[in-house]
Amino acid sequence: MSEAVTMEKIVALCKRRGFIFQSSEIYGGMASVYDYGHYGTLLKGNVKAEWWRSVLQERDDVVALDAAILMHPRTWEASGHLAGFTDPLVQCLGDCKRRWREDHLREASNRGVVAEGGAEGGEAPLELHCPQCGGELTEPRQFNLMFETHVGPVAEEGSTVYLRPETAQGIFVNFKNVLQFARKRPPFGIAQVGKAFRNEITTQSFIFRTYEFEQMEIEFFVPPAEAEIWHERWMEDRMRWYTDLGLRPDHLQLRPHGADELSHYSSATSDIEYLFPMGWSELEGIANRGDFDLTQHAEHSGEKMDYVDPGTGERYVPHVIEPSAGADRGTLAFMVDAYDEEEVEGRERVVLRLHPRLAPVKAAVLPLVNKDGQPEKARAIYEELRRRMPAEFDTGGSIGKRYRRQDEIGTPWGVTVDHQTMEDDTVTLRDRDSLEQSRISAGELVADLERRLHEPWRSPKLIS
Ligand code: ATP
Repeated sequence: MSEAVTMEKIVALCKRRGFIFQSSEIYGGMASVYDYGHYGTLLKGNVKAEWWRSVLQERDDVVALDAAILMHPRTWEASGHLAGFTDPLVQCLGDCKRRWREDHLREASNRGVVAEGGAEGGEAPLELHCPQCGGELTEPRQFNLMFETHVGPVAEEGSTVYLRPETAQGIFVNFKNVLQFARKRPPFGIAQVGKAFRNEITTQSFIFRTYEFEQMEIEFFVPPAEAEIWHERWMEDRMRWYTDLGLRPDHLQLRPHGADELSHYSSATSDIEYLFPMGWSELEGIANRGDFDLTQHAEHSGEKMDYVDPGTGERYVPHVIEPSAGADRGTLAFMVDAYDEEEVEGRERVVLRLHPRLAPVKAAVLPLVNKDGQPEKARAIYEELRRRMPAEFDTGGSIGKRYRRQDEIGTPWGVTVDHQTMEDDTVTLRDRDSLEQSRISAGELVADLERRLHEPWRSPKLIS
């Protein structure tokens, strides 16, 4: 097996197999905006479905919400985003004139990637230079990341609204509604999946950082005294979610933020980081937001946001633990982790060793030859299978070529119909990872695959 996963290989596979395309390609493409094709849509859909399953089905203290992207502009005053959702922008004064995020350069420099100039033992601040051309950099300037647009036919004062930079605020402004109708009391959570938009200074690394992306966020409301314990629990739960879905534990880490990194709302945050080809990078942030958001919205809206415990009569503003994950970054991490190359019988094969529940297609039904009743038999099996799980039927090209295509999109099982099928109604079941082939009765196929789909699963990269 190969460890040489590069972003270029992932990008090439995504394009070759129709997972992800550059946006507006026919016009030369728009940088850092991407469109998901068939398999990409299915894969990201599965990532989101697994997230929903883990928060709604596997526990009973979280309810769902789907809030709008546009919100009353005062939301962003209250949340602190208008004043504080900024990144420090520096620009190269040398030849390339590129823009960078100063905090990213500093982080990379601390990790020894672009270490220059300075200071051992953290005494004087490091002097940073442009990583592209080595030029000097401007002083940092704070740059607001929110995209603005206007409601109504005329762009005038008072018509400005923002594309939400996070889904979280849609949850906070609905806190009272949910509390009233959901019959929940703290500790309980509200979960949401949806688009968020950020006018990022530096976009990079394919779908890792884009202007438009999907978040999967939970705001978990707790009695103030329980905030720390729930923060701990959520960090454990979220780490386990990634490893249960196959990410290798040695490619995942939990990194607590230093005091200088904390967002304006947070008293403690830890990032779940994944070892992407460009190095350790954030996959999900898990923040203890205290009572910051509810208090701010209470002050700005005049609506009370506190909770009265019916048992004790105690009145308090709940504290909030926020596990905030990116669906696109998650999808990228699952692909990177699953990507593998190996030589089989003298030929190279590329295979996505995805968890079966994440795989866009679960099984491909393939007649060995295109005659002797095999295609008809294979189609009948496929028709039955696809009612229970996403499946494909493929008659085009040699069997080796069809397997390679399925390997590249991560299909865990190949079902081959051959001459023996026509005699005894058995099919060959091929395992994507071990390449083992076993014979199984066609009548038992659906039940067998459904059972396999729900078995605990570990990355074959770990087992080998
Ligand atoms: P970063 O430091 O990488 O800019 P952040 O700390 O600003 O990220 P959060 O505000 O914590 O990110 O957002 C929660 C999650 O949303 C991130 O962990 C990430 O998965 C996702 N996310 C944030 N910004 C982007 C983006 N521009 N493109 C894709 N996903 C993003």
